Amino acid sequence: MTGKELCPICGGPLAIKYAGLPECGRCGLAFRAGRYSGEPAYEPGLEDAIYSGAKTVLFRGALDFLGAAAPRGGRLLDIGCAGGELLKAAAARGWLAEGIELDPALAAKALALGFKVYPRPVEEAGLETGAYDAVTVFEVFCVMDKPAAAAAEIYRLLKPGGIVYIRDFNAAFHLPLYRLELAGFFGFLGASPSVLHNFNFRAGTLRLMLERAGLRDIVIRNSRPTEGDPYGTGGRLGVFLAVALKILYYTLAQALWFVTFGRVCAGSSLIVTARKWPSDGHSP
Ligand SMILES: [Zn+2]
Repeated sequence: MTGKELCPICGGPLAIKYAGLPECGRCGLAFRAGRYSGEPAYEPGLEDAIYSGAKTVLFRGALDFLGAAAPRGGRLLDIGCAGGELLKAAAARGWLAEGIELDPALAAKALALGFKVYPRPVEEAGLETGAYDAVTVFEVFCVMDKPAAAAAEIYRLLKPGGIVYIRDFNAAFHLPLYRLELAGFFGFLGASPSVLHNFNFRAGTLRLMLERAGLRDIVIRNSRPTEGDPYGTGGRLGVFLAVALKILYYTLAQALWFVTFGRVCAGSSLIVTARKWPSDGHSP
């Protein structure tokens, strides 16, 4: 960092706070300096545990929400669709589902299930304006090359009244945890519970990014954790204890969310929903 760069989400001033990561003083984004490849960062051998088993409940939650918010269904685009697990669940509920996936092997799996899959980042995919009733983005903004451009593109792709459903890691949880890890706090357990990516968003960062993209009715809440310990972050704690701690922490984060009237999201991951207002669809 030369001191001249500004936050890629909001243009705010940067300072180094955690482990050499530039952090925005305005929106709280923390990111890795330098060029991002935008390549998906799947852990070999873990895809099936992560995308099939652990996320089933989360996908169901997303589709329940979208089904209630858009009862007529329609076209759904899943950005970062992996092997098509969410596409399959969405299609079973009547959505016309399509995906974006940059990893060729995973894209091939989704294609083999009969889904249309685009192999380009969303902002470069050249999809049709106002074509989608719903867009889902599970843990993809954190590994994107240009998240703000992607958010603007999602706005363009949504039909007036369309909804975006996002799940991403919460930097307000993972950055302090990472600092504890660097201090050797979890070393004796062999555990590495923090997750850092190209872009590490706080609730306020995601809100600002979506507002700037033109989206409205933005609601941010804690996500329930994934099932089990698919990333193997618990080390010697073992799956049972790692899961018990995840559930305990989620319960505490939810308690904090309730007593602060939804203002403080401390959960390890966030769910964000937003809408393109029908009246916004008619003007550029
Ligand atoms: Zn910022």
